[in-house]
Order: sequence, then structure tokens, then C-alpha cells
Amino acid sequence: MVSFTTGTAVVTGGGSGIGRTTAQTFADRGANVVIADLDAEDGEEVVAEIIDAGGDAMFVETDVTDPDAAAAMVDTAVDEYGSLDFAFNNAGIGGAQAPVSEYDPEDWRAVIDVNLVGVFNCMHAELEQMQSQDDGGVIVNNSSVLGKVGFATSSGYSAAKHGVLGLTKSAALENGETGVRINAVCPGFIETPLLEEGGITSDPEMRELIESRHAMNRLGTTDEVAAAVVWLCNDEASFVTGEALGVEGGYLSQ
Ligand code: NAP
Repeated sequence: MVSFTTGTAVVTGGGSGIGRTTAQTFADRGANVVIADLDAEDGEEVVAEIIDAGGDAMFVETDVTDPDAAAAMVDTAVDEYGSLDFAFNNAGIGGAQAPVSEYDPEDWRAVIDVNLVGVFNCMHAELEQMQSQDDGGVIVNNSSVLGKVGFATSSGYSAAKHGVLGLTKSAALENGETGVRINAVCPGFIETPLLEEGGITSDPEMRELIESRHAMNRLGTTDEVAAAVVWLCNDEASFVTGEALGVEGGYLSQ
């Protein structure tokens, strides 16, 4: 197992929201961080913040729906830093909202493509690299509470997030003895641009309704998710694999 101070972490969707805070948290612990995102401006901004704070980071423009781009992301990390020790497969979109009978099939496919196929593309490349390393590695996939229960009008999102858990558990079984641990986090509703775009934090009534679905009656913070991701990557979690760790303020306790 590699320590954060000598390790390299890749964070997809690292330019915004949960990915951004997690990239900064990895860097604070001493890891080299590769920020992979569609958005070069946001990604370069996070790199600059990490370097200003004394860390080491680089940006790789990546569309996770493209398997070649996912492979290039891993190759770039290894070329630059010599290994790939931690991967947070986090890039995702909220997608359109509509009942199944009215959901545009292309919109549905687009959510599956980013939120599920994108995670597969990244894992495919990351696992090949990590399995070749003496010290293995750790992968954390970002699912959701909606990977465990449904949400009316978000069938594509929920189906993709359920799929991420199947992918996580299957890969954990395949890698039980390879030195690569694979887990998922399942956040509740977290205050990020994604919720703003989805009309949840921009509408006071909707915000209150969503907050009330959590036992803690509030949204989560990106720091709270980042802490769970980093813990799963840490040696303290050395016997944890195939887990779907809730970070959700009691959303699923009823
Ligand atoms: P966010 O602030 O919108 O960040 C998502 C990032 O992913 C953005 O920088 C986005 O770039 C990037 N991205 C989108 N499609 C991509 C692609 N094809 N390839 C590479 N990067 C791509 O959202 P967030 O709330 O932090 O969400 C991060 C993850 O957490 C998602 O998987 C989401 O489903 C999951 N999650 C979020 C919540 C929540 O309540 N916020 C709860 C549970 C799970 P652009 O800005 O250019 O699109």
C-alpha cells in the first residue's frame, strides 16, 4: 500500500463540486493529483490553487465517455508521476428530469453514458495499471443514495448509479487478491453546482423539501464526501472492498 505522501491520485470531474474538494483534500494529504475534467478552465484553476498551497497537480482534459481518453488520462498520470495509486471516478451529470414514459431516449442514454459507461471506461484503464503495480491501488466510484433507491423523474440517473454499485462490487470480487480495493461512496444531496443546475438549491421550496428527506434536515458538504473518499483510500480501510459507503445524513434510515 502506498501512502498519500508518495502516491498519485486521479480525480475525474475534479474541476467542480465534490471532485474539486476531493482533489484538494488528496493534495492536502500530500498526494500528486491529476485533475481530469471536460472543463479546462475549471480544471486549470484547481491545479493553480493546489500548487499555490504547496501541492503538486496537473490537468488532463478528459471526456470519460471516450475509452481512449480514459486510457490517455491514466497514461498521462503514470508518465508524469510514475504510478497511479488512487482513483476517484466522480465525473457525472444530473441529466434531464421526466417520468419514464416521457423521457427522451437520447437524454436517457446520455446520463447512462457519462454516469455509468464513463465509470467503466475509467476503471478499465485504471485497473490494468494498478494490477501491474507491486503496491496495487484503490478505486472509489461516486454513486449516490439514488444508487440504492429510486427518485421520481430521475430514472436514468438512478439506474446509472445503481449500475455503478454493481460495477463496484463485481470488480471488487475480481480483485480480492490483486491488491486493488474498489469501493463506492453514496452521497445524499450535496451542495454543488449540479444541484443548482437541477433546480434544487435555486428553488427555496424544493431545497426545503430535499433537506427534510435527510434525518439531519440539511444538505451535505463537499468536504464531508471528500473525507469519506480519502478514508476509503487510506490504509485504515485496508479490509474494506466492495462497499457502498453512505455519506447521506440519514436519508436512507427510514
Ligand atoms: P458538478 O459540480 O457538476 O461536477 C461534475 C464535474 O464533472 C464537472 O466539472 C463536469 O464538467 C464534469 N463532467 C461532466 N461530464 C463529464 C465527462 N463526460 N467527462 C469528464 N468530466 C465530466 O457535480 P457534483 O455534484 O460535484 O457531482 C459529482 C459526482 O457526484 C457526480 O457523479 C454526481 O452524480 C455525484 N453525486 C452528486 C450529489 C449531489 O447532490 N451533488 C449526490 C450524490 C452523488 P462540466 O461542468 O463541464 O459539465
